[in-house]
Amino acid sequence: MSETSQQTPSATTTAPAPPADLLSMTIEELKAWVAEQLGERPFRGAQLYTWLHQRGAESFDEMTDLSKAMRQKLSEQARIAPLSKDLEQRSVDGTIKYRWRTHDGRLIESVYMPAEDRKTLCVSTQVGCAMACAFCMTGTLGLKRNLTPGEIVAQVHAVNREVRRNEGHETFRPLTNLVFMGMGEPLHNFENLKKSLAILQSEEGPNFSHRHITVSTVGLVPMIERLGRETDVKLAISLNASTDEQRSRMMPVNRKWNIAALLDACRTFPMRQGRRITFEYVLLQGVNDADEDAHRLVELLKDIPAKVNLIPYNENPGLGFRSVGEERAEAFRDILAEGHVAAFVRRNRGRDIAAACGQLANREGPDAQQAAPGT
Ligand code: SF4
Repeated sequence: MSETSQQTPSATTTAPAPPADLLSMTIEELKAWVAEQLGERPFRGAQLYTWLHQRGAESFDEMTDLSKAMRQKLSEQARIAPLSKDLEQRSVDGTIKYRWRTHDGRLIESVYMPAEDRKTLCVSTQVGCAMACAFCMTGTLGLKRNLTPGEIVAQVHAVNREVRRNEGHETFRPLTNLVFMGMGEPLHNFENLKKSLAILQSEEGPNFSHRHITVSTVGLVPMIERLGRETDVKLAISLNASTDEQRSRMMPVNRKWNIAALLDACRTFPMRQGRRITFEYVLLQGVNDADEDAHRLVELLKDIPAKVNLIPYNENPGLGFRSVGEERAEAFRDILAEGHVAAFVRRNRGRDIAAACGQLANREGPDAQQAAPGT
């Protein structure tokens, strides 16, 4: 063989396939993968799915009803732990903010909010966010990348484990409620969101009820329609303004889909019996907190089954907005109530650890500064 015809190993060897992301697979996909890749019977995929999504296995070694040979093949070809805990911060009010590191070194956050009657997790769907809402620290990061379905689901599994360990629960799934309001705009990562919902709601998995899952959006109108058509979860709208002029200044998305288009999408959103759409309204001093704003809000929402969450702003250094006092928030709520719009002043959770709304934003790198969620 001549020198020129000789091929180096690197020219002939193809790079090894990256490990399969099992947490991102639905049960049907996992059954097919197990059959095709491992040569196992499809029901082994169902067993594997239960280990991952119902029993919370963290390693293949735990899966004792799978053969040793299958576990060996799994450990060579697949990955089931896409996130590692990077930081945990506890608030005086019981809220815990978890920061996770992804396999490619990105940082994301989830916020656990325990209450007497529920245990809620605020879940992130993207690393950073492209929506650039002026009052939100996550928006200052820009979008780094979408989270995979597995990375979305893994936040839920990881916090279930933490709660089990911290609070001594026997059941795998102590979390009762999920809100998709963490870092990122969930509907901007629609396909991965939808798949993660399918996994989280599956009977063979964590089996969350649609009644206990809320997806929040700034108003990507075509995707609201898809969310209504293709899932059965509850909808929350991050509204934050009573005029287009105000909203476009704070939320660039409004320049594409204005308040009228957004509320039209809400009117046609399929509503199960007794459901209401939640409208989040962050109160910003001198920007959107006037009596006139409250009156306009009554007009805007009068024909929509709605509930308004008034959120006193969590001041973030450098963003230039001021919070309103409790009195102003309550006066605003009273005007809505007089106009027959159900409204609540939301108690801010985790303010002391920058885990409250609009505060989630990891700065990546060794000087990581807490700033953090959003939508
Ligand atoms: S409020 Fe939500 S959509 Fe807006 S920048 Fe923050 S994370 Fe993104």
